[in-house]
Amino acid sequence: MSVRNDWTLAEVEELFDLPFMDLVFKAHQVHRLFQAPNTVQISTLLSIKTGACPEDCAYCPQSVRFDTGLEVSELLELEEVAVRARAARDAGATRFCMGAAYRSPKPKDLRKVVAMIRAVKDLGLETCATLGMVTPDQALELKAAGLDFYNHNLDTSSRYYEKIISTRTYQDRLDTLQAVRDAGINVCCGGIVGMGENPQDRVELLHTLATLPEHPQSVPINQLVRVAGTPLANAAALDPFDFVRMIAVARILMPASHVRLSAGRAEMNDELQALCFMAGANSIFYGEKLLTTGNPDTQHDQDLFRRLKIRAGSPRAESPHAESRSDGAAPTARGAGSFSHAPGASVAS
Ligand code: SF4
Repeated sequence: MSVRNDWTLAEVEELFDLPFMDLVFKAHQVHRLFQAPNTVQISTLLSIKTGACPEDCAYCPQSVRFDTGLEVSELLELEEVAVRARAARDAGATRFCMGAAYRSPKPKDLRKVVAMIRAVKDLGLETCATLGMVTPDQALELKAAGLDFYNHNLDTSSRYYEKIISTRTYQDRLDTLQAVRDAGINVCCGGIVGMGENPQDRVELLHTLATLPEHPQSVPINQLVRVAGTPLANAAALDPFDFVRMIAVARILMPASHVRLSAGRAEMNDELQALCFMAGANSIFYGEKLLTTGNPDTQHDQDLFRRLKIRAGSPRAESPHAESRSDGAAPTARGAGSFSHAPGASVAS
């Protein structure tokens, strides 16, 4: 089996139509061929500038247009970011993600973020940023600072998108992804389910991601967190099995990518999370907060990993330049402070 960028819509529909057990079984087979078994990559996310965003993303409490009671904060100081990154590293994170609620960063803000990226890199962490839309020149500036990943989600299908966001187009998002890719930065790009989209929108979102010129190296699959005050506060609850289907189909379509179980994890029980790992999720955000919404508490995550004998895994496995593993063998795993490691796990620094 090879990594493909030529999936047809019909093929993606067929995957979604499989009986649930057949789909999860197939996804796990693909997972074992391309990914380290029982290994989950850990990232920590810090909001470096919170709220007052001019965009109108209907799910987001950070939009200035919605009254969510969110406490707004300016861009954090470099020293505070460095302290938080060190604490994340000591708690087991291998990647530190910095999120700022911008439409796009202004030059003076970008200069400050560049300094943060350098400081986080100096701690031996991988770096990720999400700053809204960036131009090709800004992407090159971020690359020069040592940025490893840039997160910019497509959110949903192109046709449902206009029901969710009116202040930037789907093409704007694709242009940012291209700028990031062209700069040589790894792309982190996924979407959100449970926003009232229909099953075909989920098919089309994953089809778009899986037919990009290069698959995103990280694919976050978020379950909508229904925040009071946002237009989606009363969205209908998602069938948990539909969420697992998204994970499984993403795993099959983009076998070499890390599929990240992202927002919404605080509302999932342990059994559902285990099913998501079985279906191919192998990355999580760790820490009690995700930008502005809740996340499972860190002790609970550590206990869950111990119970499932999951180890904190190597971010290097998802590098586009990682050695291919045609024999299906696991890549070397990198240890993570507070997390226990499965028996026999290889731990390198
Ligand atoms: S998702 Fe990002 S761009 Fe959209 S409102 Fe929230 S912070 Fe702004």
